[in-house]
Order: sequence, then structure tokens, then C-alpha cells
Amino acid sequence: MKKSILKILKNNKDKFISGEKLSEEFDMTRSGIWKYIKMLKEEGYDIESVPNKGYRIVSSPDILTLEEIEENLNTSFIGRKIYYYDSINSTNDRAKEMAFEENEGTLVIAEEQTKGKGRLGRSWISPKGKGIWMSMILKPELGPINAGSITLLAAAAVHSALKNLDINSEIKWPNDLLIEGKKAVGILTEMSAELNRINYIVIGIGINVNLNEEDIPEDLKARATSIKITQNKKVDRKKLLSNILNEFEKLYIPFVREESTAHFLSICRENSATIGRKVKIIKNKEEKGAKALDINEKGELVVQYEDGKIENVFSGEVSVRGNKGYI
Ligand code: ADP
Repeated sequence: MKKSILKILKNNKDKFISGEKLSEEFDMTRSGIWKYIKMLKEEGYDIESVPNKGYRIVSSPDILTLEEIEENLNTSFIGRKIYYYDSINSTNDRAKEMAFEENEGTLVIAEEQTKGKGRLGRSWISPKGKGIWMSMILKPELGPINAGSITLLAAAAVHSALKNLDINSEIKWPNDLLIEGKKAVGILTEMSAELNRINYIVIGIGINVNLNEEDIPEDLKARATSIKITQNKKVDRKKLLSNILNEFEKLYIPFVREESTAHFLSICRENSATIGRKVKIIKNKEEKGAKALDINEKGELVVQYEDGKIENVFSGEVSVRGNKGYI
């Protein structure tokens, strides 16, 4: 009911809608309508109410609900259902709990994560209202082996969405995006599968959108940044989120239908922060110097070690560091 009232107000942006009209439409008393208006106001909607004229929406809050992003969303199933939380431990953990019951494309989004996760048990800082902290449930009909490159599909989607907003980024294989050489986006993919069948994949995407310098812990300052810090202005989270979901679906549909990785891998290759660089491949605490040569069609990193040996590195098992530092 609250959502339907909001929709009418949003569809009539500059007009007043009378309480009488709303109460007729929803077969409810005018004080009943007022209760919902009050709830919307408490959520941060600025709604003007003028006697004898009615209600008019003046502005909407900066929150990542479906009602707030759907006007820019042109997907058929990605992001069409959103579980939205003010605060949660980890969006990936919540998405995994509900993955069996939910349809493909369902999202978990939180304004804050208290136990945000990175890969290999690392943590991900996610301050309130400043980023996009979300997880997507997917159920592709692919063999588990063919799903390995899906993190890169997500990275390509985020890269394209940022580009649509005139923000340049580079993809650090396999799961980060850098802006001005520092990490601004991290992706964490988790999968539940049988031998030959995927039950579900949860892709967590954490984007440092409007974090200020002081939101980034001292020990991360040298390698982490935000879009706001690099662009010198606040960025519309809703626009960025809907853009990412649109770009994601555009890449995901052909990937699942034709198992074609060509398009998103070319985005990853052309905008790679890794290819052509000297890197350190860290596997089970063992470090090896190498040069990153390419990303192959499975999404693996092709590296050449100092002894000349060439190997295809699978993303699940390694961390990649720059020769001198993080990148
Ligand atoms: P890595 O980049 O080391 O392979 P992950 O991609 O799993 O690791 O990301 C987790 C790491 O990212 C953490 O150990 C921390 O160093 C860093 N980190 C944590 N939160 C953020 C953030 N919001 N932005 C950028 N980097 C972060």
C-alpha cells in the first residue's frame, strides 16, 4: 500500500494529489492515507501537504530500494526484486541463506555491512549510506566449471556502468576495479554446486561510492579510494546501481545462452590493470614473480614465470600483487 501511494506521487511529480483522490483509489480513510504519508516521510521522502490541495512529492531520499532505482532500470529479471536492509552483517551471507528459495536476479542490498567480506576470509569495510553494498543471486544453467569467469562478467558490467557516467576504471584481475590506481570496487563470488550442476551463485559487489578520506581506514589509504574522492564530487548511487544492473544483464544473457565469454572478456582485457605488468602470484603463502600476459577464454590469467614457464592461473586460488606494491 505504501509502495502504491509512493508510485502515484512519483508519477505525478509536480502535481498535488488530493487526499480524497488517494482515499478513493485505495478505498481507505483519509487518516489512513496520512499514516502512510507519515511513514514515507520518516523514510526520508520530502512530501509537501497543503490543505485543499493534497500531497506532492518534493524529493526522494538517497536510498537503494527498488522504488528508487526502477525508473532507470531496463532489465527483465536482474534487480527486479530487492531485499533492502538498513544494516546487515554481510549481504553475501544473507543472499546465500535465501538463495535456494529465491529466483535468479534477486538482490540483497544494505546501507551498511557490519561484517563485510573479501576473498580468502578478508574483511570489506562498508560504511553506512556511502557505498553500494549488494549481492546478486544467480542460477545459470551451466556446468560449474564454465561459471568460473562470472566474476569478470560482473567486473566488466561495473566498468561499463562507470564509463556511462564518465568515470574511468581499470579491472585488476580477477575481482577488483581500480580508479586512479587504487581499489574502489571489490567483487566476491560464492557458489554452491553439485558435480555437474550449479545450485546458485552469489555475486557480492562492494563499491566505494561516496566515501570521504576519513571513511577509509589508515592502513588502507595507500591502496583504497572512492569515486567521490577521485571525481571530487558526490555521485548518484541510484543511477550507478541501475546502470550496473542494466549492463550486467546485457552481458549475462548471452553468456548463459551461448556460453559466450567474448564480449565481457574483451572489456576486461582492454581495460586491464594487470595484463602486461609484472606481478607476484601468491598461492598458499608462496610468492612467485611473473609477467601477466593475457586473460584466456576461460577467464584465467595467463602468466609467464621468471624461469620462462607459462601457466594459466585460476582465480579461486591466488592473489595477484604488483611487483612493487599492491597494484
Ligand atoms: P585482495 O584485493 O587482497 O585480493 P579482496 O579482493 O578479497 O582481497 O578484498 C579484501 C581486501 O580489500 C581487504 O583485506 C582490505 O585490504 C581491502 N579492503 C577492505 N575494505 C575495502 C574497501 N571498502 N575498499 C577498498 N579496499 C578494501
